[in-house]
Amino acid sequence: MRRLIDLLEAQHTLPDQDLLSLITMDDAEADAYLAQRAAIVRQRHYGNDVFIRGLIEISNYCKNDCHYCGIRRGNRCCQRYRLTEEQILACCHQGYEAGFRTFVMQGGEDPYFSRERMAALIRSIKQSYPDCAVTLSLGELDRETYQEWFDAGADRYLLRHETANARLYRALHPEPLTLENRMRCLYDLKEIGYQTGCGFMVGSPGQTPEMILEDLRFIQEFRPHMVGIGPFIPHQETIFRDQPAGSAELTLRLLSIVRLMLPDVLLPATTALGTVLGDGRQQGMLHGCNVVMPNLSPPNVRGKYTLYDNKLITGAEAAESLRLLAESMAEIGYRVVTARGDWKGGST
Ligand code: SAM
Repeated sequence: MRRLIDLLEAQHTLPDQDLLSLITMDDAEADAYLAQRAAIVRQRHYGNDVFIRGLIEISNYCKNDCHYCGIRRGNRCCQRYRLTEEQILACCHQGYEAGFRTFVMQGGEDPYFSRERMAALIRSIKQSYPDCAVTLSLGELDRETYQEWFDAGADRYLLRHETANARLYRALHPEPLTLENRMRCLYDLKEIGYQTGCGFMVGSPGQTPEMILEDLRFIQEFRPHMVGIGPFIPHQETIFRDQPAGSAELTLRLLSIVRLMLPDVLLPATTALGTVLGDGRQQGMLHGCNVVMPNLSPPNVRGKYTLYDNKLITGAEAAESLRLLAESMAEIGYRVVTARGDWKGGST
């Protein structure tokens, strides 16, 4: 296995069979070596710096009905909320004071946040905080909308591809969602000029190692600036309520593999990883991650943005949660920095 890991580090790719062997290996020593190499590569590109993104969950209204997701349209038990523009700006203010220089606006696909309304909001954030990056994670839209939000000042867009396998995509998403449109969105975003993030859940119901291989191949071909990988976690109000959560161990292994494939990628230790693993954020860093996305949403709505059960939620204010995060990163030799934390790669 060590030979394969060294080859992956040197060549950033491996033949299918070898990659599959890494994905499915049952070898604690090899896992430790993989993590060590991923951490070294991360160090080479980003040093000890941990980039932070202030996550603002702007709405849990969603017009989609993804089978795995707790805020899907069909969940009648979900207490819906939508932040006002004033509330969002107040979150940015608090975050800025605490040291955040990236704001991530994420939400369900909520038509209230129309092309015009979002463009105005992005402009007003960029006007108040010209030294900050704005990241959007608002789902699938037409190219013109993505372009208008980019022109308004948005810098980055996160849209997980969820799975590169059309059959699994269909099993996880009812009509009218299609893998084809998800991919169209990703290619549009990248062409427009966004720093673009794709990604997938580990252990989603029906996922096989071969499908994970397809995800890695897609990531290699697409060359995203960011990759979001977290374990699937069941939600009680979905058809997948009795399915097991994805493995933290496999998630960490895949994060390390992605670091070796795309050495300069921005790689977050996700909230879902922190939910299945007590020290998930620390473990993420030790496996090649370099980004954490603490929650800046008003504490009274955090419990309503429940994509899955037992989501890691703290009621802490921005400054306090950042202090705790900085302490936990310092324990393992990493340093939370106040910086936009842009992608530091060459041309993609
Ligand atoms: N609507 C936007 C979109 O489609 O990208 C952003 C919000 S969506 C809820 C954010 C991400 O949450 C999804 O890309 C998905 O991977 C993740 N997610 C949803 N349900 C989940 C679950 N049960 N377990 C783990 N992750 C989940």
